[in-house]
Amino acid sequence: MRYVRFNHNRLGVVDNDRVFDITGLFKLTEQWPAPAGDMIVRQLVELETVISSSWKDQPSLLLSEVRLDSPITNPSKVIGAPINYKAHIDEANADAEINTGKTYTSIDQFGLFLKANSSIVGPADFVLRRFDERRTDHEVELAVIIGREAKDVKREDALDYVFGYCASLDMTVRGSEFPCFRKSVDSYTVLGPWIVTKDEIADPNNLDLLLTVNGEQRQKSNTSHLIFDVQRLIEYASSFFTLHPGDVIMTGTPEGVGPVFVGDKIVAVVDSVGTLEIGVGHWPQ
Ligand code: MN
Repeated sequence: MRYVRFNHNRLGVVDNDRVFDITGLFKLTEQWPAPAGDMIVRQLVELETVISSSWKDQPSLLLSEVRLDSPITNPSKVIGAPINYKAHIDEANADAEINTGKTYTSIDQFGLFLKANSSIVGPADFVLRRFDERRTDHEVELAVIIGREAKDVKREDALDYVFGYCASLDMTVRGSEFPCFRKSVDSYTVLGPWIVTKDEIADPNNLDLLLTVNGEQRQKSNTSHLIFDVQRLIEYASSFFTLHPGDVIMTGTPEGVGPVFVGDKIVAVVDSVGTLEIGVGHWPQ
C-alpha cells in the first residue's frame, strides 16, 4: 500500500494514477496528553483490515491533480544518521566546507542526531534556502517509518517494528554548528511522496538511490553500502530512546552531496519506494 497526505490533511491510498480518499476511516479526535508518536501511523496499523477492505469504495481523484504533503506530520522524533556510507565519509573528510576541521571516523563514534519536527515538508512545498552566503546541500536518503513502540530491539527483530518507507532529503546548512541545528531549518526535512508499506520492499538494504538537480545526476548509490543497515539503525536508536509509531529514521546519505540554489528542482529516487520532487525557493523575507 502507498499512503499519502494530500490537499491539506486528506489521507489517501495511491493506486496507479489515482488517490482514494480514506480520511473518513480515521478517528480524528483530540486527547491531552496525546499518545507519543504520529496518530495517523498508529491508526494505519490498527485499521489495516478496515482500510484494506474498503479503500477501493472511497471517492478518488487523479494523483496528478492533488497537492502532495509530507505523509508524516507529527512524529515524536526524526532521527538522522550522520556518516553512514564510506564514500560519503571520504568525501566529507576531503572537503573543508563539510568537515569544518573535524575528522569523520565512524557512525558509532558520532552517534545519531535529531532533526526538529518543524523542519518537515512535503513534495508540494519548497525547500526554502536559508542564508545566501552559506552552502545548503542536498542529501538523498532512505527514510524508515516506525510502526510500533520499539525499545531495546534486537537486529533480528528490527523489521517487525517498521511500518514502511519514504524517500527523503536531509537538507543541510554547511558549517560548524551541531548537525541537529544546521539540519533543522524550516523545510530542511523533505518526506514523500508517500509511505510504502514494508510488505512491498523485499530488502531495504538493497535499494538504488539517485538524486538529480535540474536533471543533472549528483548522487547515485545503493542502500547495500550502508555501514549501519536498517536493522542495525533500529537496534542502535532504540538502545538510547523508545521509538514510537510515525518516528522517522533517515538512514544517511551516500557520496555526491552538493549545493542547491533558488530555482533548482531536486528529484530524489529511492528504487521501489518512490520519486520525490521538490523545488528550491527563497527564504521568506
Ligand atoms: Mn543526512
